[in-house]
Amino acid sequence: MPSPDIIQLLPDSIANQIAAGEVVQRPASAVKELLENAIDAKATHIQVVLREAGRTLIQVIDNGSGMSVTDARMSFERHATSKIRKSEDLFSIRTMGFRGEALASIAAVAQVELRTRQDGDELGTLIRIDGSEIKTQESVAAVTGTSISVKNLFFNVPARRNFLKSNSVEMRHVLDEFQRVALAHPEVSLTLHHNDTEVFNLPPAKLVRRIVDIYGKSYREQLASCQEETSYVSVRGYIGKPEFARKTRGEQFFFVNDRYIKHSYLHHAVISAFDGTIPDGSHPFYVLFLDIDPSHIDINIHPTKTEIKFDDEKSVYAIVMAAVKKAVGMYNFSQSIDFDD
Ligand code: ADP
Ligand code: MG
Repeated sequence: MPSPDIIQLLPDSIANQIAAGEVVQRPASAVKELLENAIDAKATHIQVVLREAGRTLIQVIDNGSGMSVTDARMSFERHATSKIRKSEDLFSIRTMGFRGEALASIAAVAQVELRTRQDGDELGTLIRIDGSEIKTQESVAAVTGTSISVKNLFFNVPARRNFLKSNSVEMRHVLDEFQRVALAHPEVSLTLHHNDTEVFNLPPAKLVRRIVDIYGKSYREQLASCQEETSYVSVRGYIGKPEFARKTRGEQFFFVNDRYIKHSYLHHAVISAFDGTIPDGSHPFYVLFLDIDPSHIDINIHPTKTEIKFDDEKSVYAIVMAAVKKAVGMYNFSQSIDFDD
């Protein structure tokens, strides 16, 4: 006798919880996803409010497009996105999101409250959702934009919760994500409050001013601008003086089409360009923006979208190296950079 059929489709709540394992590793991952959604919604002002390094509360408030009643509900479905429609769209992505899984994942492992209103709508929508289960949906008065509160992250995943590090370590990760978004979007005003203390209050500014606002005035004299362009890719940004290189890593940033990415091969291009000017094993400061036609890149490698493949990686290496070499070589660090907006 054959055995009976035993395969079943998983309920959405379990599928979402499994997907959440990849997308939401810690409070910082939720902060990143919510900030990126606010950026995609064209917000010009974004507030982040945290309690206990995001363990008990992560709230992101934006003045972006807001959502309709139906979209507000849809936004928590898995693979639900307004950012792509057909497979070709994967080759022309300019938005931060496109996988449609962040909100579904976050809602699977936290208690979430969404308040949103589109410009022109009389009322907004309030949705409360606990571990993928919608508890409340009602019309409410609301300002234009979106506010999402994520409470008690991993309340239903004890193993993940116990895996979290101390508040200071988790906060370090949150600050990393916050600073990456702040660097990528100097034109957006951003605030960060932690346990009622203001950590950052960044006005809209040019990139160089944003760097100084984040890292302090001492960076002002240390930066050299960097620019190079080919038909394939353009590079712009700032590098720190060779003497300014540090023993520890952490202030090296690549953004490809405004998305922060990690790329050891390109990091190597920068280090090679500094060749001979910095001691071995020290790390120069850099914030470099690469702009490239999205059809030449693939960011759909990992759910967190911090890895990227270029179709011609060698060209990118060459131009990054050339741009940095030129900036180091000119050594014109006395050039006056205009810090005013
Ligand atoms: P993705 O960003 O990949 O599309 P998400 O799960 O992060 O997936 O969000 C799902 C959808 O919800 C988005 O495509 C967008 O339409 C909507 N959305 C999410 N956050 C916001 C926001 N802050 N403002 C406006 N719309 C939002
Ligand atoms: Mg998103």
